[in-house]
Amino acid sequence: MSISALALALFAAQTFPSDDLVIRNVTIASPERDAPLEGQSVRIRDGRIVEISAAPLEAQGEEMLLDGQGRYLAPGLTDSHHHVSFVPGMGAAGLPPASNHPALVASYMAQQPRSLLYHGVTQVLDPAPLTGWEVFTDQPQHPDLLRCGEVPGPHDGYPVNQRASENPEDAYPYDIDTPEDAAPVIARMQADGAICVKVYLEDGFGAASDWPLMSDETLDVIKAEAEARNMPVLVHANAIDMYQIALDHGLGVMAHGLWNWQWPEGEPPVVETLDRVIASDTGYMPTLRVMGGLADHVRPGALDNPDLEPVTPSDLMTFYREGGADWFADELASDFPADMPREEIADIFGFGVQRGQRALAYLHGEGHPVMLASDCPGSPTASNQPGLCTLLEMEAMSEAGMSATEIFRSGTLTIAAQFGLESEYGQIAPGFIANLVLLEDNPFETVSAWRSIDVVILRGEVIERDSLRAR
Ligand SMILES: [Zn+2]
Repeated sequence: MSISALALALFAAQTFPSDDLVIRNVTIASPERDAPLEGQSVRIRDGRIVEISAAPLEAQGEEMLLDGQGRYLAPGLTDSHHHVSFVPGMGAAGLPPASNHPALVASYMAQQPRSLLYHGVTQVLDPAPLTGWEVFTDQPQHPDLLRCGEVPGPHDGYPVNQRASENPEDAYPYDIDTPEDAAPVIARMQADGAICVKVYLEDGFGAASDWPLMSDETLDVIKAEAEARNMPVLVHANAIDMYQIALDHGLGVMAHGLWNWQWPEGEPPVVETLDRVIASDTGYMPTLRVMGGLADHVRPGALDNPDLEPVTPSDLMTFYREGGADWFADELASDFPADMPREEIADIFGFGVQRGQRALAYLHGEGHPVMLASDCPGSPTASNQPGLCTLLEMEAMSEAGMSATEIFRSGTLTIAAQFGLESEYGQIAPGFIANLVLLEDNPFETVSAWRSIDVVILRGEVIERDSLRAR
């Protein structure tokens, strides 16, 4: 039993269950500081932090007392690009092949929020939650869900052409067919609770470039309407030409890193584009796990990664092991010579990760803030399980040269500032929502500290990490 589990057992027996809580003897690791602060007490009431003190606070009334001795208390992470309505290895929950396996989808949906919490992700932003995202918030313990409204663009373009739907009218409630649609649709989106707008600039994967794009006029009115409502516009783009269009229109956040480019000798040819990102203060989501997930999905043996076990329901893992998600590996491999070994194909996707890391290293080296954003599952990749994927994204950011402190800030302060949430999330201070984690190791020092979580606190509710494991 861990120290904090012991402390919980001792104190919980003496009190009534309550989300009001005092944490004592804890080291606060709040990312707006440069270093942790030892020996603090924190009081939480009605889901928010109300008091922080260097003197020990007493529990009052029904408040639970938690001993934080030897632990770091950090704000929970936000993954600013996570898809709640997609199942790893299956795709969109309501469409085939996922809709052919309702029991597996249900078991994934029950585990998804728990897996995120298991890895300390207490908020997710879903840029394209489709319909049916309530399945996520209906689960008993779930991270706070922040949403964009998705404008699908031309129906013969991306992403509609990738999602064979029986009825696109139902699947895309925020369709904008003409520029005149933008004002009422974006107003309705915001009234529905969206905090941002998602658009797509994708003319084809790899070398292909024949899919139609949203018109310049429509992009401009969407931007103007969204800006008037303080809603950032997130744009799907990962190639230089698509980035240039987004930058020409002043769209606020690149929802993917820039990894789709040729890499000859010398300086990467993306510097000019990245300089425009920096000069225009455009938000940047590296999403290194997109290509990382594709590489893993075709790589033989990837399912043997022991990190998958705590976050993948056993029936879903059995399904993968029996070849249930191989269709997507075959689809990926079909773009390569038939006799090319899968390891080699995986390495080619891996070069995409390296190009994304190279772009990230450049931005980061120039002091441009980036957001923690995994885009999981993104495509039907079995290895991109929720929560774990966020951790793998952080480890890939670390490989690209970002320090543990910078990565910590990318998952807290940077996202909160981008989306106007800086008085709600991302710090340990009075007034902030009490979505927190207790870690054994110092998150200012090493990214692997995020592998040492032992308690998650969700709006004041204390959750032992082990209770969140998949079954
Ligand atoms: Zn995405």
